[in-house]
Amino acid sequence: VGVFFRPVEKINSVIETYPKGIAGFKRFIELMETEPDIEDRPGAVDVSGLRGDITYRNVSFGYSPDKPTIANIDLTIKAGETVAFVGPSGAGKTTICSLLPRFYEVAEGSITVDGVDIRDIKLASLRGQIGIVQQDVFLFAGTIRDNIAYGRLGASEADILDAARRAKLDGMIAALPDGMDTVIGERGVKLSGGQKQRLAIARMFLKNPSILILDEATSALDTETEKAIQQSLAELSKGRTTLVIAHRLATIRDADRIIVVDTNGISEQGPHDTLLAAKGTYSRLYHAQAGLR
Ligand code: ATP
Repeated sequence: VGVFFRPVEKINSVIETYPKGIAGFKRFIELMETEPDIEDRPGAVDVSGLRGDITYRNVSFGYSPDKPTIANIDLTIKAGETVAFVGPSGAGKTTICSLLPRFYEVAEGSITVDGVDIRDIKLASLRGQIGIVQQDVFLFAGTIRDNIAYGRLGASEADILDAARRAKLDGMIAALPDGMDTVIGERGVKLSGGQKQRLAIARMFLKNPSILILDEATSALDTETEKAIQQSLAELSKGRTTLVIAHRLATIRDADRIIVVDTNGISEQGPHDTLLAAKGTYSRLYHAQAGLR
């Protein structure tokens, strides 16, 4: 935890420690579900239809006040852009992303969305504009319909069906005897990893947020399924500002920009080809992972 392995021969530690990364993000998602202890400021505003321009200005934060986890982060993400955070385990990729839905408050500096400080936006409104897709899909015992509708409670049947279709879940649903009424969860039909991912994607089509956070959602899947899911995620991220927390570098080559986070903060950023040519940390990580396949 918090250890940064620099030598190339130790880079596989990044991969070995991936389960820890999943555990970290589980905490992250649990926070989305729990009642926040953050109260809205007086005069906090509702936002809807955000463009999704994001700016981090000199942002510092630590889980314990005496020890900064990230320090002096400056970052501008344009509306509709897809950026991928890469770097060694524990460097702070998840932490940077978790400040945006205000799971934690910045200690110093500020984060704005469309120019508005996120502390001046009502929390429910802010989180309503942010969608998260993660490795571990939260399913509850209930019908497929209800599980999709969880993305936007009260959604119409037509909208739910449309979301299922866009996430390419419709074929599977049609093949089930009870269709949308099929009960999933502990006592019902068990979904495969890929189907769970698709369900999570359907929820997000339904929620239709301006901003997406993807926690490398596909690494537990076989290659074929992973490719198909990647395609659906690319569909989902169209027209939305997307932050990808990447663990496997092969899947984020097409990001508009790759941001390398290490213990000293953001050390490099740029498109895949530019970073490879720069022969810095990204290029090292990339070649090390490619060699391990
Ligand atoms: P990974 O690739 O393993 O997911 P990461 O780059 O996303 O790593 P973070 O999860 O942001 O890194 O963690 C940064 C540091 O903060 C690590 O030292 C981690 O142990 C610590 N940390 C993360 N979450 C918490 C938490 N909820 N409480 C205390 N410390 C935490």
